[in-house]
Amino acid sequence: VIQLVDCHAHLHDSAFDSDRAEVLMRARESGVASIVTSGTDVATSAAAVALAEHEASVWATVGIHPHDAAASSAADVERLSFLAASDRVVAIGEIGLDYHYNHSPHDVQRQRLEQQLDLARALNLPVVIHSRDADDDTFAILSAWGQGSKTVENSVPAGVMHCYSYGPARAEDYVSLGFVLSLPGIVTYPNAASVRDVAAVRDLDHLVVETDCPYLAPQSRRGRRNEPAFVGETAARLAEVRGMSLDDVAARTTANARRLFGLPDRQPVLHSAGDGNEAASL
Ligand SMILES: [Zn+2]
Ligand SMILES: [Zn+2]
Repeated sequence: VIQLVDCHAHLHDSAFDSDRAEVLMRARESGVASIVTSGTDVATSAAAVALAEHEASVWATVGIHPHDAAASSAADVERLSFLAASDRVVAIGEIGLDYHYNHSPHDVQRQRLEQQLDLARALNLPVVIHSRDADDDTFAILSAWGQGSKTVENSVPAGVMHCYSYGPARAEDYVSLGFVLSLPGIVTYPNAASVRDVAAVRDLDHLVVETDCPYLAPQSRRGRRNEPAFVGETAARLAEVRGMSLDDVAARTTANARRLFGLPDRQPVLHSAGDGNEAASL
């Protein structure tokens, strides 16, 4: 039986409000042992933690997305630190820089990223980085942050480049900072040669898989709502381009994900739904 980890999802998103229990069931049936659901502001981070505290297979990350940098404050970063006190929180994120959509000014994005990197350092948590069309600034900030960090030496990853999009040559640089690279359903798209090149050539010790659901459904469901069960399609394409079995890719990427987030290496014991009222309140 294969076991997969969906390293980056937004399972707390309202897109799943009507059928989250069924989505979780399909994930289990598809071999998805753990799902990491990522907040993008204080409210969604709180929702992510609440979901993780209720579902044994779900873990949370808390963070302010670069899109929300301008609409947030330093006080919000402090609020994240309180949310991160939950033992269900496994990373700070998603945080980063997005110069593609430019929903927040670049200087505010950089400031909010640096504040949250400091928070991660203080809490000794890895980070989930979102970076789009902002390679140079992202790399410069993460390099500065990594100076003197113990993460590289002790072989626990500093974090993950979620939905990694900067190609195979640059991948080496992020790996040298102690980051693993997370590949989304884009790997399955016909025109995604650059992402597939990363999938083909990178040492498998540095790769994990994600859905970024409800966004970025893999090719067979492209344009529709994505969900954690579909991460297997991405893992299967990764296996194909590497000429490996799905079993091996699943085992290796799952081990990487567990090392990254400090997840237990067993399938959680499922608790039965004796408390249906709580489940409906999320
Ligand atoms: Zn993102
Ligand atoms: Zn995301």
